[in-house]
Amino acid sequence: MTRNFNVSNSHQMKWIFSLTLACLLGQGCYSQNNQKTDMDQHKKNDNPVYSRTDTGKAVMKDEDWKRVLSPEVYYIARQKGTERPWSSKFENLKEVGTYYCAACGNALFKSDTKFESGCGWPSFYEPISKSSVIYLPDNSLGMSRTEVECGRCKAHLGHVFEDGPPPTGLRYCINGVVLDFEKAKEAEKHYTEKKKSE
Ligand SMILES: [Zn+2]
Repeated sequence: MTRNFNVSNSHQMKWIFSLTLACLLGQGCYSQNNQKTDMDQHKKNDNPVYSRTDTGKAVMKDEDWKRVLSPEVYYIARQKGTERPWSSKFENLKEVGTYYCAACGNALFKSDTKFESGCGWPSFYEPISKSSVIYLPDNSLGMSRTEVECGRCKAHLGHVFEDGPPPTGLRYCINGVVLDFEKAKEAEKHYTEKKKSE
């Protein structure tokens, strides 16, 4: 009797042990995965909508934008300000990579569509995709212009003019303050790291 009891007890113990181990492992994997999903390499402190991967609309109250953006970015992105010409570090940048919205992380322009326009602001002839930017008529300052906003968070980016180079003939004149740039090599590294973690 005693022997039988011991055998069954030991089986039971083994079973409980395996179950606990499975739970622990499962839980471990779960939280690790969670961490990796949230691990947006470019996430900005306190900005809950900043993401290079989320394509959903980024909507926040003005007071929240003011809290999470630097005063320079807030002034241009949310108050439609304009930076001084020739003041952007991106104006003459020739590195290969991608330009993102500094307010929400949305991919906006690729470096191969950037050109030297001589206008004093970073200039591109084409956005990354049709939905990466939106267009609004702007009749302020006695001029008839087309305003360009971020397609995800509606940050004011700049204006588009019809005097650009081929193939589009467009010139997207963009405030460098509202752009984040990532070199292609860095992007590739982050992509590989992300793939490994999946
Ligand atoms: Zn944006």
